[in-house]
Amino acid sequence: MSKSQAVLQSEKITVDFSGFKAIKNLDFQVKPNTVHFVIGPNGAGKTTLLDVICGKSKASEGKLTFKNKYDLTKMTEYGIVHKGISRKFQAPSIFSKLTVFENLEIAMKQKKSLSGILFAKLKKDNKKKIDDMLNLIGLSEEQDKKAGSLAHGQKQWLEIAMVLMQEPDLVLLDEPIAGMTKTERMKTGELITQIAKDRAVLIVEHDMDFVKEYADVVTVMHEGQLLREGSMEEVQNDPQVRQVYLGR
Ligand code: ADP
Repeated sequence: MSKSQAVLQSEKITVDFSGFKAIKNLDFQVKPNTVHFVIGPNGAGKTTLLDVICGKSKASEGKLTFKNKYDLTKMTEYGIVHKGISRKFQAPSIFSKLTVFENLEIAMKQKKSLSGILFAKLKKDNKKKIDDMLNLIGLSEEQDKKAGSLAHGQKQWLEIAMVLMQEPDLVLLDEPIAGMTKTERMKTGELITQIAKDRAVLIVEHDMDFVKEYADVVTVMHEGQLLREGSMEEVQNDPQVRQVYLGR
């Protein structure tokens, strides 16, 4: 897929909760190899946008096309993961009593079962994949530790790695730096930059300093609609954005 071609294309997407439209007629696209942030005040529709992309909420109108082929509005959550969209929620969902390595092994087994391949038949390159992943998230030395004993930031990175084990083309992240120290935030930013070299990353985030530092593209949502899109510099200088979002 070329850089200019969208990995995800939303056309006039509307999400209706018993008459209340959390998203209204949203046209929006995500490009490959991009760190793409979604920002906006509370209630703007950011979480609903991630929900509709991963199939947790259903669109009442419009079309969401993934990789130019799949209409996500017609697919199940399971089917959407299978086609290449994985989401990391805010609360960690790792297996605390298992080691870091075992957590990654489980994530890998899930991927293989999604692909219909018997895990037992897989070869040694599994270990290499896990080792590479541990290296990427900087947890090689912690691989035999119980996941529950990790620091908050490390748990989050482990979970990002588990999401990456699904080999997604689009990763969805929900406030990935919530509760992190300054150093952990920086490491997370670097990790996100790194993973976007091979795929698109769409992130809902409130921390504007973080967005400014790591965004390729920023979408500002307001009342279920797209208010402005561009670089952080472009959106933060937009008078409408300042008015509704920053309150000045
Ligand atoms: P954000 O993530 O930007 O804070 P949300 O997507 O969570 O916004 O919510 C957008 C709007 O939709 C809010 O007004 C919220 O109350 C409403 N909403 C979200 N989910 C539901 C739901 N399941 N049922 C009814 N209203 C909902």
